[in-house]
Amino acid sequence: MQDYASTLSAPVSEATRRFLSKPQRMLIGGAWLEASEGGTLDVFDPATGQAFAKVPAGGKADIDRAVAAARQAFDGGDWAAMRPVDRERLLMKLADLVEANAQELAELEALDNGKPVAVARFADVALVVDSLRYMAGWATKIGGETMQPSVPIIREREFWGFTRREPVGVVGAIIPWNFPLLMAAWKMGPALASGCTMVLKPAEETPLSALRLAELVQEAGYPAGVFNVVTGLGHVAGAALSSHPHIDKLAFTGSTEIGKLVGKAALDNMTRISLELGGKSPMIVLDDADVDAVAAGAAHGIFFNSGQVCTAGSRLFVHKKKFDQVVEGLSNIAAGMKVGAGLDPDTQLGPLVSAVQQERVMGYIRSGFDEGARAAVGGEAGAGGGYFVKPTVLVDARDDMRVVREEIFGPVVVAMPYDDLDEVARRANDTPYGLAASIWSNDLTRVHRLIPRIKAGTVWVNCHTVLDNSMPFGGFKQSGIGREMGRAVFDQYTEIKSVLMAL
Ligand code: NAD
Repeated sequence: MQDYASTLSAPVSEATRRFLSKPQRMLIGGAWLEASEGGTLDVFDPATGQAFAKVPAGGKADIDRAVAAARQAFDGGDWAAMRPVDRERLLMKLADLVEANAQELAELEALDNGKPVAVARFADVALVVDSLRYMAGWATKIGGETMQPSVPIIREREFWGFTRREPVGVVGAIIPWNFPLLMAAWKMGPALASGCTMVLKPAEETPLSALRLAELVQEAGYPAGVFNVVTGLGHVAGAALSSHPHIDKLAFTGSTEIGKLVGKAALDNMTRISLELGGKSPMIVLDDADVDAVAAGAAHGIFFNSGQVCTAGSRLFVHKKKFDQVVEGLSNIAAGMKVGAGLDPDTQLGPLVSAVQQERVMGYIRSGFDEGARAAVGGEAGAGGGYFVKPTVLVDARDDMRVVREEIFGPVVVAMPYDDLDEVARRANDTPYGLAASIWSNDLTRVHRLIPRIKAGTVWVNCHTVLDNSMPFGGFKQSGIGREMGRAVFDQYTEIKSVLMAL
């Protein structure tokens, strides 16, 4: 067995070393298995470009096995017989285990995705723990309604009606690489709280934390088959899962392009879908805003997770009175950011997840230059063998440029001045996406007037990309279908059954 940990860009904890030193397997029906066709996929450290782990290359046969195991666990046995309070207890236990292994999970995220290890620990893993606990609390509170029907065609009888919320069944979950553990938690929390079973297909770039999570699921004591993980390529394992006739619901987070594909495949089987897709979120700065606070907030809005955030504030609209000051403040912050490996404790901005993503982002920057934009700061790749891109602020942009219209998914913001609120509302909405937006001002009247005009699933005021489990999350327009988090998520993970009784 090769000790992959010895090839890493920086030292890791003993727990991480132990995990990386063993061969990775998929959890299917309570057993740890290789891919049925035997292949593996390399996992790369984005800070060095070196492969440091291998995971099974799961395929259709593995998805079939995992779905059958999830089906069996859903249809009978210990899981089906569990009371809501037992599901709550199990999910709480899982949250405790994630918390107890926070450093190891954070190191795996830093290695797999490239993000700074402190961010992984105090943002990603902390959010996962909170999210599982929040959803555990709902297990005992998902319920129906009672009605007093007045059935018009049988007036001589008395009726009583109520609704039940029943788990939707077997959930297929396909997630992206930007927040691997958190995206898994956003799906497993509501699925397991409501009594569903699931098959998780992590992104091929970042499969490790999902496999470690599967170990913790077993340690928590979940019955076999309730939670299954199949690692593999999107167009192979992902496609097999999204088109599977025996899943009841598909929960997908990823690009709008693939979201359309999997949505169509699911619709062929009338599988319920929720899609969390891409974005091109505006940050709108009003003329009264505090320049320093906006510069710091906008830096978080675009550079958090190296801009690989679906809600990244990638279009910065600043009132012309404050435009130069805000661009200067943001550029100074960008210029001072320490770009480096996720495992380096000083790093503020990690590499992008893959060579493909680095090339994609650099391609966008070049297209911006070709179309006449200019970099106030950044605009180039970072040094070394990793997939680095320097934090970039583009100016002199027009609304029709590709960098303004398309999702870049990197540390690149386009800053543009505007004159008045009507103009900025129109330009902010001039996008096929509608995931999020932020408004920066202390003028409550104008803020409240602007909120209903913005076509987005989330509007932040004086902050950006601040997540809370109680707040439903999802997109308008081509940013998706359905909502995650909050009470609203249970509309996606339960079926409503109406019961009408003639007394
Ligand atoms: P992607 O769409 O390429 O991949 C997402 C997942 O889909 C991966 O697991 C991949 O293996 C799988 N996949 C790929 N091709 C598939 C196919 N043909 N059939 C089934 N599955 C397939 O996206 P990505 O590049 O991993 O992630 C970046 C995108 O995700 C961005 O567009 C971002 O905005 C979006 N995102 C959205 C949210 C949200 O909540 N709205 C959150 C995070 C990321």
